[in-house]
Amino acid sequence: MVAKTLDTDILILGSGGAGLFAALHAHKAAPELSVTVAVKGLLGKCGCTRMVQGGYNVALAREDSIERHFMDTIQGGAWLSDQELAWKLVVLAVERIKELENELGCFFDRNPDGTVHQKAFAGQTFDRTVHKGDLTGIEIINRLAEQVWARNIGRLEEHRAVELIKDSSGKSIAGVLFIDMRTGEYVFVRAKAVLLATGGGPTMYRYHTPSGDKSCDGLAMAMRAGLPLRDMEMVQFHPTGLLAGPHTRMTGTVLEEGLRGAGGYLLNGAKERFMPRYDPKAERATRDLVSRAMFTEMRKGSVSPHGGLYLAMSHLGAPEVRRQFKGMVERCADCGFDLAGGMVEVVPTAHYMMGGVEFAADCTTALPGLYVAGEDSGGVHGANRLGGNGVANSTVFGAVAGDEMAAWVKSASQREPDRAAIDAAIAFCERPFRGGPAVSLEPMRERLYGVMWEKVGILRDAASLQQAQSELQSLDAALDGYSIPGAAREFNLTWHDWLNLKSLVAVSRAITLAAAARRESRGAHFRSDFPESGSLENSTFTSIRDMTVSMKPVVFSRVAPGQSLLRHVA
Ligand SMILES: Cc1cc2nc3c(=O)[nH]c(=O)nc-3n(C[C@H](O)[C@H](O)[C@H](O)COP(=O)(O)OP(=O)(O)OC[C@H]3O[C@@H](n4cnc5c(N)ncnc54)[C@H](O)[C@@H]3O)c2cc1C
Repeated sequence: MVAKTLDTDILILGSGGAGLFAALHAHKAAPELSVTVAVKGLLGKCGCTRMVQGGYNVALAREDSIERHFMDTIQGGAWLSDQELAWKLVVLAVERIKELENELGCFFDRNPDGTVHQKAFAGQTFDRTVHKGDLTGIEIINRLAEQVWARNIGRLEEHRAVELIKDSSGKSIAGVLFIDMRTGEYVFVRAKAVLLATGGGPTMYRYHTPSGDKSCDGLAMAMRAGLPLRDMEMVQFHPTGLLAGPHTRMTGTVLEEGLRGAGGYLLNGAKERFMPRYDPKAERATRDLVSRAMFTEMRKGSVSPHGGLYLAMSHLGAPEVRRQFKGMVERCADCGFDLAGGMVEVVPTAHYMMGGVEFAADCTTALPGLYVAGEDSGGVHGANRLGGNGVANSTVFGAVAGDEMAAWVKSASQREPDRAAIDAAIAFCERPFRGGPAVSLEPMRERLYGVMWEKVGILRDAASLQQAQSELQSLDAALDGYSIPGAAREFNLTWHDWLNLKSLVAVSRAITLAAAARRESRGAHFRSDFPESGSLENSTFTSIRDMTVSMKPVVFSRVAPGQSLLRHVA
């Protein structure tokens, strides 16, 4: 059934910031090696790095420091981060941003004196977010893609990775099985080293921000390969997702945080401002607090026509709103809303997964030959990610992975894959082609959206998580019984939708189990039956393997709760 087998030294799954940086670094470190980037979409056109609006956190200014960036990251993550990973992030972000500007050709905004402009972002004690207007991701990905195109780096576009295949001993990775989405054929790529950089993405929630090509495939494959995942209960919600009705992909997309920062109000269905009742900082409180307050208001039933709330800016003066937020005003107008002069329907929206595959600071995992970087990895951000640390994470660890893989591969050899594992993976993918009555996948997607949003979302408790677990199991069984109409494999989007849902349900189960195991509230995870944050000194992180969760102690390798790396603590 495998139509084609290819060989490469280094295989990279995904072409976001992590995948492209890894490709460039591996090629630079060892140009004699063959490097191949395989991606579900088109290189340079897919994934979330391209969608980055706000920017990239890095300690560049003389008055700032990597220690300060580190402390903000650790405190923002509610002391759950792996401190060695967080340290590597803040140190190497400085190198990567210089590489982006000086070697790869990015233009970032500058101050009149020629220094790089850095703006304020929530949760940071210093303005350190480097940006290109509010289209930073397009600048970064376009330049990275151009550099990859200009080099002898192999590309497999519209190739969906479906299984990590181990060698016949089961001890290391031998390659990856793909579906060539254009032909529907199975392709096996043998590789000495593989990087998982498929970018996570909480698209199992009714409202979400990430790109449509992301369905947690990498995390689902890692779980099937027996790798441990950490912090899976930690899903970040952005408070202001646009709510434009059920049948448009604009619903869930982000209306930038600056709108609340500039003085925007959130109103309930009765057009009353409610945030001052929840937090003294009102609309300017942190993302988790605002999202929780919004969800609580929505549960009370005072909602907008589409079931959300309102964002109002008109009290700031329509011309001023138009001047400051041109892009946002236009986006809202496209969906029939007048942001400058009226009100816009909004809803909290699932944005980012702090959890992912457990890994070491050199990007190695528990499976020799398999590396991980970017949003597929866990441990850098702990219980909450600071805005601006996401793209720093993917570029920093993408580059580390590229360097490390190039060094490792020099003394590694190709390994023979476990043929039975390839056959089993193909049998899994072929399940929906067994024939049977054709029904729509849409109700199953709605079921998933509903259970994750209502029971494993912004507010959780033991009962809701238990119900979610059994509903997810029954949804998984329903998917296994599903039949695709017809037998065509070429660009069969229904088939890929089915595969997306299988990945999302598997990862949703992991989120639910981890959320049930953490009997406290921390960062993005809020249990209404355990609202206290627990002892910071005795912090533990969740580690899930084979659908079993264990709690492991956080090692405070650089700084313990109550201490600081800064000489003068405010
Ligand atoms: C709207 C939005 C705004 C954001 N703004 C910011 C910001 O201002 N600052 C910040 O720091 N972070 C921001 N983030 C987060 C940031 O985008 C991510 O943290 C980061 O870019 C992830 O990089 P990555 O390389 O891990 O994944 P991605 O860039 O998402 O790339 C994943 C790649 O994997 C591919 N892929 C997926 N599945 C498969 C498969 N089965 N087989 C092969 N390939 C596959 C995808 O097609 C894609 O190419 C934002 C995110 C969103 C959604």
